[in-house]
Amino acid sequence: MLKRLDADSWVPGRRASLEDVYPAVNDIIENVKANGDAALFEYAKKFDRCELDSLLVTEDEREDAYEDVDPKIVEYLIEAESRITEFHEYQKKEDLWLRQLHPGITLGIKTTPLNRAGCYIPGGRASYPSTAIMTVVPARVAGVESICACTPPPANSMTIAALDIAGATEIVRAGGAQAVAAMALGTESIEPVQKIVGPGNVYVTAAKILLRGNAEIDFPAGPSEICIIADESANPSFIAADILAQAEHDPNAACVLVTTSESLADKVSADVKMMAKSAPRAEIIEKALTNSGYIPAADLKDAVSISDRIAPEHLSIQVSDPLPVLSAVRNAGSIFVGPYTPVACGDYASGTNHVLPTAGYASVYSGLNVSHFCKTSTVQIIEQEGLEEIGDIVEALAEAEGLFAHSESVKIRRK
Ligand code: NAD
Repeated sequence: MLKRLDADSWVPGRRASLEDVYPAVNDIIENVKANGDAALFEYAKKFDRCELDSLLVTEDEREDAYEDVDPKIVEYLIEAESRITEFHEYQKKEDLWLRQLHPGITLGIKTTPLNRAGCYIPGGRASYPSTAIMTVVPARVAGVESICACTPPPANSMTIAALDIAGATEIVRAGGAQAVAAMALGTESIEPVQKIVGPGNVYVTAAKILLRGNAEIDFPAGPSEICIIADESANPSFIAADILAQAEHDPNAACVLVTTSESLADKVSADVKMMAKSAPRAEIIEKALTNSGYIPAADLKDAVSISDRIAPEHLSIQVSDPLPVLSAVRNAGSIFVGPYTPVACGDYASGTNHVLPTAGYASVYSGLNVSHFCKTSTVQIIEQEGLEEIGDIVEALAEAEGLFAHSESVKIRRK
């Protein structure tokens, strides 16, 4: 069931599907640029089979959304939001820190939130109220005042309620590349945003990459992935369950088991086969499993090196002594340590963020966090004493570069 994979073809394989959709996504972007809201109504009909009267969700519709959702689910969304807020509060930097590093020379960093951010909440194959919370909370905690959230029409009530709980200031019924284009370029009813965050399918991810010149983006966050590093001590049924949990997201999802134990790989494979048969989303899982498999590792050092080459979105470490493995890992979006830490906990309620880089981008990007919604300015306060300390250096280096006015701007103050 689980085929043997090659670590070095993983990342190129995960990125190929994006390039295939660039031409179609470029057409969508051009249409939104030319026709604004009208293009969003057109695509809602074409891709989401929705005849919309309006794009923006009203205050009354927000209130009605709560009525449609099981009260227990509303209660749990509120509890999850509060746990996610709690963890993200720890990521906040001081608004302004200043340190006197030398006599008369004080340096610092001033952190300022963006004014307006855009969050994409997927809604094609499944609804993701959890992603509503994961994208909006870090923006709100950072202090972003205007948070626009787009989700495919008709916009599921649970997602609307979650967006309201998380603090989205605007909810728009628009999905796919067209929603990303609308947030980046602006339309009659959507003001352009400064940054677009959130996961989505290949169309959403391709649009984020193509529109990077118009709005900053978080990182490519496409079809979900898991890598599990396991030794002979691991529980094969737990691993099989984690594989199925990732595979049910999307036919393009992918799961890889990197193991020092061939017999564990056989047991996991048998469990996956058995559990997949009765899974409610069996059709999606079957397809995702064709992108999935296992890679044998000589030892745990080799397993970490394989996992680092994959740079997975989610890394689960299920070995008898996990902390040395955790220390050695360099590339992973989010790391789940030990047998009782299923990725699903991070997807919903432990408090960490589930919007994470995929397709090997975890080698260079961090998962979504508060700093994605802030920018920093360096600050310096130099007094006469400090100017004397570095004055000769600045004057001489400026003159060596032929920038005499630079040098003079120091000299005039030292006279
Ligand atoms: P989606 O909202 O990303 O995409 C739906 C939209 O795609 C539709 O509204 C439509 O506009 C567009 N679309 C569909 N077919 C199209 C076509 N032929 N041409 C152009 N546009 C088209 O929802 P989805 O499809 O369910 O995908 C969600 C993805 O997000 C999944 O792959 C899931 O694994 C991923 N995800 C990732 C993370 C993460 O953090 N990386 C978290 C949650 C979900």
